[in-house]
Amino acid sequence: MKDKVVFFKQQRRQPVVGSSPSVHNHICKGDAVMSYLPSTKVCSKCKKEKPVSEFHKDKHAKDGKCYSCKVCTKNHRELNKEVILKREAVLREKNRERIRATHKEWRTNNKEKVSEYGKTYCAANKEKVRKSKKKYREANKEKITKKNLEWYNSHKDDPEFITKRNERALAAYNANKDNDEYKNKRRLRDNKRYAIKKHDKCFLEKQYAYKRKSYLSRKDDDDFKESLAKRKQKYLQTENGKEHSRKYTQKRRALKLKVTVEDFSHKDVFLRDGYICQCCKTKTRPDYKHTHPLYPHLDHIQPLSLGGDHSKVNTQCLCANCNLTKHNTGTGDQLRIF
Ligand SMILES: [Zn+2]
Ligand SMILES: [Zn+2]
Repeated sequence: MKDKVVFFKQQRRQPVVGSSPSVHNHICKGDAVMSYLPSTKVCSKCKKEKPVSEFHKDKHAKDGKCYSCKVCTKNHRELNKEVILKREAVLREKNRERIRATHKEWRTNNKEKVSEYGKTYCAANKEKVRKSKKKYREANKEKITKKNLEWYNSHKDDPEFITKRNERALAAYNANKDNDEYKNKRRLRDNKRYAIKKHDKCFLEKQYAYKRKSYLSRKDDDDFKESLAKRKQKYLQTENGKEHSRKYTQKRRALKLKVTVEDFSHKDVFLRDGYICQCCKTKTRPDYKHTHPLYPHLDHIQPLSLGGDHSKVNTQCLCANCNLTKHNTGTGDQLRIF
């Protein structure tokens, strides 16, 4: 085997132009007459004389080259495609482990080459690579998520990982700060996360503490005060804001008069009474302006000033007209059952 290797090396080093392939027959292993080595060879199929570079390598042949030229080999392969492919597949199956091992060995020995080749290939076939990756991801979704989760669980407390992640996130944020699509995506993701966290008491406490701290640090800032006042004004004009302020004033009034206070909404009572004035039995109009005589008012059946409670049972729906003429006379109606 060793002799053969030496033989090939010398053959490459000292090609002789125009020598006949038959000269080869005179050369034995370790023979000194290397200058007779042929640089051309006659193809066994097409019978044409061609340079040695026109023949494929064959380590089983004496001169290290195939008997037929590249063109003939290709034609032969093309003609007998199915048979050859089948034979090769059988061989591959038979030597599977061995082939795998050699490939692996080569890859471990030529890591740089492999990575470089991969990079150039990816750069040249971006679209193809993207598609195949996507296909793989779709076919192995569960496997990938499981693996990722395992990896994350083993690394989530690693300080190096945390700093790296933060840096990467910051870089991505800075790069896409003005990209609307990115912003939208981010907002949706944050909302989703927040929706999950909202049920976590610990998180809510933390969030409250953070907000409180932020508020206290800016409390005396004039700009902040102004913006806060503006926001409050805006909020009080919305449906929720109105409800809030109504509830608040009622509660304060009730507390001032030292009667018991139940936590409920005006709407509950209005819905119970069907938005119908319990005095004149006309339908009230919540969509009108609050100065309109048919606007619904919440009325205490036994007035707060006379010791009535602020509760669902002691309240009813009245139109503005009836409520304003009734004052706190106490009509003696029965308490509502609710
Ligand atoms: Zn040929
Ligand atoms: Zn009325």
